[in-house]
Amino acid sequence: MTSAPTLHPTPLATHRRDLLARLRQPQTYDLAIVGGGATGLGVALDAALRGLRVVLLESHDFAKGTSSRATKLVHGGVRYLAQGNIGLVREALHERTNLLHNAPHLAQPLPFVMPGYRWWESPFYGAGLKAYDLLAGDAALGPTEFLNTARTRTLLPTVNPQHLRGGVKYWDGQFDDARLALALARSAAAQGALLVNYCEASGLLHEGGKVVGVRARNNDDSSDSGQVFEVRAHCVVNATGVWVDALRQQDGAACGRNTASMVAPSQGIHLVVDKEFFPGDHALLVPKTADGRVLFAVPWLGKVILGTTDTPRHDAAREPEPFGNEVAFILGEAARYLQRAPGRNDVRSIWVGLRPLVKPPQDDGAHADTETKAISREHTVRISKSGLVTVTGGKWTTYRSMAEDVLNKCVAARLLPEVAPCSTAQHRLIGAPTAGAAATSVSAPPGIHQYGTEGPWVEQLPGSSHLLAPNLSEAMVRFAVRYEYARTVEDVLARRNRLLFLNAHAAAQAAPAVAEVMAHELGHRVPIGGFLTLARRYGTLP
Ligand SMILES: Cc1cc2nc3c(=O)[nH]c(=O)nc-3n(C[C@H](O)[C@H](O)[C@H](O)COP(=O)(O)OP(=O)(O)OC[C@H]3O[C@@H](n4cnc5c(N)ncnc54)[C@H](O)[C@@H]3O)c2cc1C
Repeated sequence: MTSAPTLHPTPLATHRRDLLARLRQPQTYDLAIVGGGATGLGVALDAALRGLRVVLLESHDFAKGTSSRATKLVHGGVRYLAQGNIGLVREALHERTNLLHNAPHLAQPLPFVMPGYRWWESPFYGAGLKAYDLLAGDAALGPTEFLNTARTRTLLPTVNPQHLRGGVKYWDGQFDDARLALALARSAAAQGALLVNYCEASGLLHEGGKVVGVRARNNDDSSDSGQVFEVRAHCVVNATGVWVDALRQQDGAACGRNTASMVAPSQGIHLVVDKEFFPGDHALLVPKTADGRVLFAVPWLGKVILGTTDTPRHDAAREPEPFGNEVAFILGEAARYLQRAPGRNDVRSIWVGLRPLVKPPQDDGAHADTETKAISREHTVRISKSGLVTVTGGKWTTYRSMAEDVLNKCVAARLLPEVAPCSTAQHRLIGAPTAGAAATSVSAPPGIHQYGTEGPWVEQLPGSSHLLAPNLSEAMVRFAVRYEYARTVEDVLARRNRLLFLNAHAAAQAAPAVAEVMAHELGHRVPIGGFLTLARRYGTLP
């Protein structure tokens, strides 16, 4: 007789009808958060754990913005060390430990190798990386090691061997950003917070010169689209990433003020290629590219990510376009460091993210085209006269400490009552296996291991052995709809499963089968036209 799988607590259902019914109920929340990326979701979990009544509104899908488009590193930031930003590096190294501990099914240590081609490179960069170890202290994941040429070639089997003089190995972490965002959303919901995707904060509610809530509009095409709700809250946090200025400016206008923009978006692109170009389980760091940046080749979910760039933008498009010179730059740098250079036809997916960098206070908005790589990656919290709290900047790695800081500032400003202190540092996210349990590397192809302790729940749904695409079962799609807020084919193929980011062509091929399963779950037709257009963009180089 086979024993039944161990089932951890029942996952919370995410029926849209129920979420909207809760949103409609007249009540005043302690905290309304606008924006369901890393920043807003981190605040939601922290606040819910402190016992506050929390609602979070996301205009599109959770992590649809920047938070699904990172390089996927949980890192202190070797580059920020070189810039002398010790405080940021130390904080991020500390947070790296928390993240790896609290979500080991989604975030794991990753060894990096920096190859050296000139005599001084390994000693010079190696000394910097030893300092990185020292800063990490107890949070270090493994010692920095100097490598001879043979060992460097063993760890990076396809590295360009010409003039190679050795290398340096060091440790950081990597993660699945969109799935981590979902784990945060679901962990906050498990603590009683109400989170609604496809629900936009279309305006702020003011009374007596103070912000008292937000006007929310249902953006979901299939359920009462366009319906408007008034959501009242003692405190409103604007965590809308590169889009924070829109709400800030509405707030200013309502109070008769002009509000200068605070964000300087900076675009970063990534190219994804097959493992054959860069086999092995170590990442590669190029410490100084031709334009003075760092470049990574990172094994991720069975493929390799090459990136990234740092290109100032003056707009904040939902799906920003990559520029031809960014693609040429990454392929050109890859050709310098890899034995067999990937060509344009080898790129399986290209995706673009916008960093919400905070302008220096004196900046008038006319930043020059080379400037954004020098702008700080630290986060900023601003509270307007009317009480609108805006948080932006920072990094995925530091989402937790950012949330703690925001809430402490809200309490200090008396927008929130004195509540229990922050407890997220030790709070394990939904699906996290118990400490010490073996976890699969994030470099490995995706699979049921990404669900952690919820794996058995997925596998007992219909279709667990019916694959709709490599590593995507029918049961996973059902789970995404029932318990992970998925509403569209894109939600499934871009963020619950990452196929769009790994292989845009394969994602387009899987779309009809995914739509069929979703239609069965949701009880209505699920269109695929928009997704096919998107997949064409992710599969086409400029
Ligand atoms: C190319 C690139 C590489 C990166 N790599 C790394 C990395 O390797 N490691 C790391 O730690 N960090 C990395 N980062 C940084 C990290 O990704 C960001 O700091 C983080 O994702 C920002 O999250 P956010 O929640 O502030 O913004 P977002 O994720 O953009 O979230 C804001 C959300 O607000 C929503 N929204 C906007 N307006 C409204 C409205 N009116 N109503 C409701 N919702 C609204 C948007 O839809 C969006 O989902 C990288 C960033 C980029 C661009």
